[in-house]
Amino acid sequence: RILSLQANRLPGDPCPGVVMVLHDVTELRRLENMRREFVSSVSHELKTPLAAVRAYTETLQLGAVEDVENRGYFLSQIMDSADRLNDLIQDMLHLARIESREEAFDITEVPVAGVIEKCLHTQRDTAAARQIALRIHPPDEEISVLGDEEGVRTILSNLIDNAVKYTSEGGTVDVAWGEEGSHVAITVKDTGIGIPQAALERIFERFYRVDKARSREMGGTGLGLSIVKHTAQAMEGEVTVQSQVGEGSTFTVRLPRG
Ligand code: ADP
Repeated sequence: RILSLQANRLPGDPCPGVVMVLHDVTELRRLENMRREFVSSVSHELKTPLAAVRAYTETLQLGAVEDVENRGYFLSQIMDSADRLNDLIQDMLHLARIESREEAFDITEVPVAGVIEKCLHTQRDTAAARQIALRIHPPDEEISVLGDEEGVRTILSNLIDNAVKYTSEGGTVDVAWGEEGSHVAITVKDTGIGIPQAALERIFERFYRVDKARSREMGGTGLGLSIVKHTAQAMEGEVTVQSQVGEGSTFTVRLPRG
């Protein structure tokens, strides 16, 4: 532990006594290091798409704008980088709002089936295009969680989106849910690339990716799972993961039962 030591003589104290104050600054140091790391990751993440915008614009200015065959490609690269910057900024703001508890959570009884249907709706085409079977396994009786509908949707759409993203053609993604004591457990199971054991505890950290190039290529920001974790915690829930490389991953989110 790191302790800071302060020795003071009491003012007006005739006797040369000493008061010692010991501060435990371990936590402060840890937070300061985290802040420094975060600022450095953010700068790095923003620099890459910004550099691409500059490079393609410069190429166009230097004459490529007359090149009818290729200018469309340069312009679409600029657009992609702008989209990427936008995604990063949106995700960072979202995370900051949840962490500072500014996100206004409206806690109600949210039927799980309805939210999952909405999440699957946006993923069906992507999954079908890659011949990934997206299946749901509802329990016999309708169940609800006690949470913020938008928050539950954020959690599940991120997990389902990742499951589809990190699963190869012909794989499957299964979404199942059921009661577990005072909670509802929702699992998203894929037959994808899996996550190495050493990376399992890091994937919920901001900007951590097992394979940076692959994540970027798929349009990932590296913030999705941090958003999932913080949203679940803000609703008194949790998210856990089990995975085997080459076999697949199962993410389980537990939220209070409605
Ligand atoms: P990203 O935007 O990169 O997908 P996330 O925070 O959502 O960021 O996930 C962090 C990392 O965890 C991913 O880059 C990937 O390496 C890994 N990951 C997340 N979900 C899965 C999954 N279902 N299968 C395999 N790897 C995954």
